Formats: sequence, structure tokens, C-alpha cells
Amino acid sequence: MATDYDAPRSVPDAPEADSLEDLTSRRAEAAIVDDQGEEDADSFELPGADLSGEELTVRVIPKRNDEFTCTSCFLVQHRSQLARQQGHELLCRDCAD
Ligand SMILES: [Zn+2]
Repeated sequence: MATDYDAPRSVPDAPEADSLEDLTSRRAEAAIVDDQGEEDADSFELPGADLSGEELTVRVIPKRNDEFTCTSCFLVQHRSQLARQQGHELLCRDCAD
């Protein structure tokens, strides 16, 4: 009769341990994937951050036809923000004030 208690006990124990191991290994895999995803996102944003960080190399920043680069603050502004133009000098409203 004692074996009757042992039998049902060992049956649920085994699959529980298996699923726990499964969950743990799956979580570990998910964590690794998350890390790689963040690294990918970082390397993706690096080129853009480089461009905006180097304010002196403004020419690298692609401009649209309706945009201009202010020669004072080096910000790319919409043409509606252009306050003054003197030759190659373009001043945005903020800098012209
Ligand atoms: Zn400006």
C-alpha cells in the first residue's frame, strides 16, 4: 500500500522538474536574445548619433529642399524658420533675434 503513495508522487515530480528546466533554459535564451537586440539597436543609432554630435561637419547631414542649415547654431531648420540670408549665411529666427 505504501507504494501507492510513492507512485503518484514521483509522477508529478518528474514533469515539474522537466518543465522548470525548460522554462529556465528558455528564459536564459530570451535574456541572450534581449541583450543582442539592445546591442543591435545601439549600433543602429550610433551613425545617427555621430552625425548630430559632430556639429562642425554639417555637410554630412542630409538636407531636404525645404530645409536649411543655420550658419550660426548649425541646426537644420525648416525654410519657414529662415529669418535672414546674406550670401551663404543663413540665420534661423532664433539666431537672427
Ligand atoms: Zn540658428
